[in-house]
Amino acid sequence: MKQLLEKILSDCSRYTSEGVVASYIPELAKADPSDLGICIISDGGKTDCAGDYEKRFTMQSVVKPLVLLLALEDRGEDVVERICGVEATGKPFDAFNYSDLALKNEHINPMINAGAIALCTLIKGDSYDERFSRLIELAKRLSGDPSLSVDEAVYLSEKATGNKNRALAYMLKAYGMIDCDIEEVLDMYFKACSISVNCKNLAAIAYVLANHGIAPGSGEQLISAEHAKYVNAIMTICGMYNGSGEFALRVGIPAKSGVGGGIMAAVPSRMGIGIYSPALDKKGNSVAGVKALERLSEEIKLSIF
Ligand code: GLN
Repeated sequence: MKQLLEKILSDCSRYTSEGVVASYIPELAKADPSDLGICIISDGGKTDCAGDYEKRFTMQSVVKPLVLLLALEDRGEDVVERICGVEATGKPFDAFNYSDLALKNEHINPMINAGAIALCTLIKGDSYDERFSRLIELAKRLSGDPSLSVDEAVYLSEKATGNKNRALAYMLKAYGMIDCDIEEVLDMYFKACSISVNCKNLAAIAYVLANHGIAPGSGEQLISAEHAKYVNAIMTICGMYNGSGEFALRVGIPAKSGVGGGIMAAVPSRMGIGIYSPALDKKGNSVAGVKALERLSEEIKLSIF
């Protein structure tokens, strides 16, 4: 497997020059666009890595499946679905040109910014700091890495410049979909996006999602199998934003991307995959990351379709 991963990365590294690193969050612009790394966890914990798999990057939207998971564990599927729809929007992750008539809960989903911000309000905790602590605890538990922490520079950079997310949050409030202090919920959202990880962390989280909620190694049930299924289904429908249909055709597995360059992919009952390559396409998905997943999917027949 390691040899196959090395071959795929060397074939796909040329695609890094076709993308551009995100710069709308100024701190993200410092990433090296030529980085490309991958880690796969399979068979109860077998770990294979290649390339820049030890590089750290921020989760950004890859944290959204965890926000969804915690909201599901705290409130159950009915409440979650009432607040946040489950249909693909076909729009960019930060779009706010929904309709000039009304914004409704069914117009959003958990994988776009508005949906994730709405779901933060469902997570239990006396303060948004406490809610965030519970979220990062979940990330530590699922990744098996107690050292996960927030990249303060990225968090402050996003907090200082995240006015589009402020606009989205105020729009949710204007339409009665959330009822909380906007800066507090955004502070949690920005911190969540700024959790620093590597490919192995993403592969470990994805493994639990792929393995019906069960941890590699210990065999412990970390999350309910039902919730893992819910999250995988949502990732399949809209995890790659308005590139999800294309991704389903070309790769065919539940996955979530982030503008930090990460992709977390769960191959049901088989493996968890973490990829990092920060040069992005126009939709905010890692160009070389998607290409590498496409190749891997062809080589070892990963598509669920
Ligand atoms: N923190 C980013 C934002 O809110 C997350 C978006 C993403 O990764 N697509 O804009």
